[in-house]
Amino acid sequence: MNPGDLSAALRVVPGTTVDLGAVDPAATYGRRKETAAQELERDLARLRILQERLWAENRRRVLVVLQGIDAAGKGGTIEHVMGAFNPLGCPVHGFKVPTEEELAHDYLWRVHARVPANGEIAIFDRSHYEDVLVVRVLGLVPERRWRPRYEQINAFEQLLAAEGTTILKFFLYIDRDEQRERFQARVADPEKRWKFRMGDLETRRRWDDYIAAYEEVLTRCSTPVAPWFIVPANRKWFRNLAVAQILADTLTNLDPRYPEPAEPIPPDLVID
Ligand code: ADP
Repeated sequence: MNPGDLSAALRVVPGTTVDLGAVDPAATYGRRKETAAQELERDLARLRILQERLWAENRRRVLVVLQGIDAAGKGGTIEHVMGAFNPLGCPVHGFKVPTEEELAHDYLWRVHARVPANGEIAIFDRSHYEDVLVVRVLGLVPERRWRPRYEQINAFEQLLAAEGTTILKFFLYIDRDEQRERFQARVADPEKRWKFRMGDLETRRRWDDYIAAYEEVLTRCSTPVAPWFIVPANRKWFRNLAVAQILADTLTNLDPRYPEPAEPIPPDLVID
């Protein structure tokens, strides 16, 4: 494997058992901070063009799922990577504690309603995976309800893929020390304090439970049509670079094309 190819290096090969203890959240795969900004700019330039073509082509769809423990950088990734896109073709959806109406339906109902349409790249900030993460860790439904969800989620993603959606799922992986530093920085900074909630400490106390829940997600739900990527995210510059590069490589493979105009345009047409 070429360590330069981050898509291959970070992808969870379907069928492998993931042990996050063996993954270094500070890894940079030979990249250097000094040259990262330039490399990122190049990838963002590629992404801008590819997204415009996907939007113009109006035939295929891309779904990007972002997951990670609190402070892993989902918001920062959206700002720094997806900021390259024309917002018209790039809806971003955050999934919070379900509303009463959402809870009165099956857990995929609110998710299915937000999957991308033709030409769109939809970004999920949290996703249906919360239904086997927070729901499992806090025991919000009994195990007999959440246990079958891995298979249900795989089947759901299979359906989306068969209908023309390319799916990419990123797990932004930071370690406990990095989370402490980020939380501490949030608390200290008047412009970041709003991001902090006392409830975040409760989630932090259950770190090991969340890691175990993530390991099961990564092990059971990385499939050929909807792979997971484990992105070492202690270093924000590497996280951005990795997500941008994997997205750009995927879109390059899709090779979206500008369509022909809806009706023929005479080559000598003069607009007066
Ligand atoms: P974020 O932390 O993503 O910036 P919030 O602080 O609003 O945004 O957090 C959203 C909260 O909603 C998280 O604590 C998350 O675990 C919770 N959540 C998301 N989906 C579900 C779900 N299906 N069931 C219960 N809680 C959920």
